[in-house]
Amino acid sequence: MTTPSNSTDTEPKKRFIAGAVCPACETIDTIRMWEVDGVPHRDCVKCGYGDTLNADGNSIPNELVTRVNVSALKKPKETTGQALQFFPNPKLKK
Ligand SMILES: [Zn+2]
Repeated sequence: MTTPSNSTDTEPKKRFIAGAVCPACETIDTIRMWEVDGVPHRDCVKCGYGDTLNADGNSIPNELVTRVNVSALKKPKETTGQALQFFPNPKLKK
């Protein structure tokens, strides 16, 4: 008999990578790794460095933001205070 999974943890399981060296602080065994939606993530528990591996296995540092997702949508200025013309419809009856 196998024990059923008892936990209701929603957080991904982070496992320390033995022998992994943090590219930021160069400390060994501080790198944790986990997956989110099949995408490997890593972070360093010492310095807080974190990166993600893309489909090609290349490291993408989280802090290196080359493309900021800026919502450049400029809201058109709404001219508030405009008088709304309301035409009561006399034929509106049931
Ligand atoms: Zn580090």
